[in-house]
Amino acid sequence: MTSFNDFGLAEPILRALVEENYTTPTPIQAQTVPIVLTGRDVIGIAQTGTGKTAAFALPILNHLYTKRMRPERKSCRVLVLSPTRELSGQIADSFRAYGRHMRPLAIELAIGGVPINRQIRGVAHGVEVLVATPGRLLDLVHQRAITLNQVEILVLDEADRMLDMGFINDIRKVVAMLRKERQTLFFSATMPGEITKLADSMLTNPERVAVTPQASTVDRIAQRVILTEKSAKNDLLVETLKTETTDRVLVFTRTKHGADKVVRHLQKSGFGAEAIHGNKSQNQRERVLADFRNGKLRILVATDIAARGIDVDGVSHVVNYDLPNIPESYVHRIGRTARAGADGIAISFCDHEEAAFLRDIQRMIRITIPSIDKRTGIRPAARPADHHQASNRPNRGRFAGNNGSNGGNRNGGGNRNGGNQGRPNRGSQGHGGNQPIPRAEASPGEPNSIGSVSFLQRTGSRPQR
Ligand code: AMP
Repeated sequence: MTSFNDFGLAEPILRALVEENYTTPTPIQAQTVPIVLTGRDVIGIAQTGTGKTAAFALPILNHLYTKRMRPERKSCRVLVLSPTRELSGQIADSFRAYGRHMRPLAIELAIGGVPINRQIRGVAHGVEVLVATPGRLLDLVHQRAITLNQVEILVLDEADRMLDMGFINDIRKVVAMLRKERQTLFFSATMPGEITKLADSMLTNPERVAVTPQASTVDRIAQRVILTEKSAKNDLLVETLKTETTDRVLVFTRTKHGADKVVRHLQKSGFGAEAIHGNKSQNQRERVLADFRNGKLRILVATDIAARGIDVDGVSHVVNYDLPNIPESYVHRIGRTARAGADGIAISFCDHEEAAFLRDIQRMIRITIPSIDKRTGIRPAARPADHHQASNRPNRGRFAGNNGSNGGNRNGGGNRNGGNQGRPNRGSQGHGGNQPIPRAEASPGEPNSIGSVSFLQRTGSRPQR
């Protein structure tokens, strides 16, 4: 599929896609949309950022458009379950955006952390699409605000994260309330055994689609973490670039300002480096990218947003100058290397303030990334995570606290409706569920002198589940 027109979607949806500037379906969309349009169940292995929301939202909207009927009172025709209120809000926003030319179309959110009464009123007349976190949905059911026996299509998004957050029983309860004749679309970034079991219990003869299976991509990349002082990162970067045999290096910073500072330091140290981020003009971006592609420029410093459009083969190294606070961003970043079957190297600098980010990343990728401690020269034990742990977090007694099991449920289940997983806000239309996402400031500070960098071999060991 090279164009959205090939799918045979209804005109109002196509019009919305033009307005969204979507010209080409992403791989997950190209694979998923035609199958969903036939009414089949789908297991999609894809992570956020691949365009998976549109992959299910577009054919669902098409179904609602072609089989128009009034939803019954206190019911929904499409139910989307998602683990966090942020993701739920983004999904609802996507439905609203792609369905903006469809009338009538009622899309409601049922998420924790906000008063339930507005949600009770929201579903009172029945809605086409309800996007919900499992706990709040069950609250609505128990208050007799909604019944689920009219659901024609169920979407379970980020199933593996649901499992991590301890939602599995809630999901089973919800599924038991649905009618058997329905279409089910099941998405997960990873497919551990328990998720496969859950999928088997929910889906009927599903078609499987997968894009860049995350585990294998991540597995092919030699990942290392260097624990460092924030102020030593600039010199550590220079040292890394001198020590490593690099071809093309993509350096990620959290902020545009940080990217510019890193470039200045690298240039002062004699490295040809350029930044690409939102403050640069289109011309500058294109020139820099062309230079990076054709090998004139060896080091490109980018922010996550700017890196979205970067599709360059032959990136030998990704350096996370700052660790992202969103685990998916880490996977996206390091996925820039190891393209086209090549192996790649990902090196992450982690200062004290980023220890919690590292723990979240390791939990998500289910790999304990080999690390060295450049602050003391010894392998880390408990200190960084303990140092950083918020008081309500269990002390797991290990750096990164990665036990790979239900560790995602930090509050022992208490946050089941409101788990803030630090998702990017993709342009909220005021769904009321988003909260500001804390972001650490990137402030490289003054360089300190450090010794030469030595790396451990890749182990990619998986923690016990
Ligand atoms: P998702 O994986 O659903 O979170 O989508 C990631 C981002 O890609 C969102 O900001 C979408 O708006 C955007 N997106 C999804 N599909 C396309 C497309 N075909 N073309 C351009 N952008 C897209």
